[in-house]
Amino acid sequence: MRTTQPHVLIVEDEPAQREVLSYNLEAEGFRVTTAANGEDGLMMVQEDPPDVMVLDWMLPSVSGIEVCRQLKARTETRDMPIIMLSARSEEVDKVRGLEIGADDYVVKPYAVSELMARVRTQLRRVRPSTVGQVLVFEDIQLDAETHRVTRAGEMLKLGPTEFRLLATLMEKPGRVWSRENLLDRVWGRDIYVDTRTVDVHVGRLRKVLMHNGGSDPLRTVRGAGYALG
Ligand code: CA
Repeated sequence: MRTTQPHVLIVEDEPAQREVLSYNLEAEGFRVTTAANGEDGLMMVQEDPPDVMVLDWMLPSVSGIEVCRQLKARTETRDMPIIMLSARSEEVDKVRGLEIGADDYVVKPYAVSELMARVRTQLRRVRPSTVGQVLVFEDIQLDAETHRVTRAGEMLKLGPTEFRLLATLMEKPGRVWSRENLLDRVWGRDIYVDTRTVDVHVGRLRKVLMHNGGSDPLRTVRGAGYALG
């Protein structure tokens, strides 16, 4: 489903490399955006924040190292995983890359399958529900692959929107999601949906989660949004 597709931003100045990577990531169901230099890369992160960034070290104007440094210095983008690509295999470069906050480091030339595996690893960390993992919160279990949700061992029947909503909330228990964040994540930013729609679906999700007399795991945070736990 387009709206919950994991999103990868590739910042790479060599068109052939960009294309090969985009092609392979799209074939695996990722949404891919690309930038050909560091400046555009930084702008795109603001306009359409990705789940994972693949960032070439050697870029015209603003270097990959500088892009990484800037993103890791901002609270909004600090947790966004960055995989640095470098043609230089010296250990000292790797250390430098990781020191400025890169989450992973891949040396060129790399096997595309290798890089894809690294992307999935980072994604599993930030959006576990998109890579087929079972999410657990207290007595609630959600299996992203089979779309099964249980509470205290009992199967729950959720509609597709409620399922995506719960998966999103279960990715980061305790995090307060604004209605706008949830709209972006669950419905997708291309679709116009009123923020009150979020309230309606949260209400439905609550009802299903509590139908066997369980406590309410969802928290309404006045003026802010919703959180799990
Ligand atoms: Ca380059």
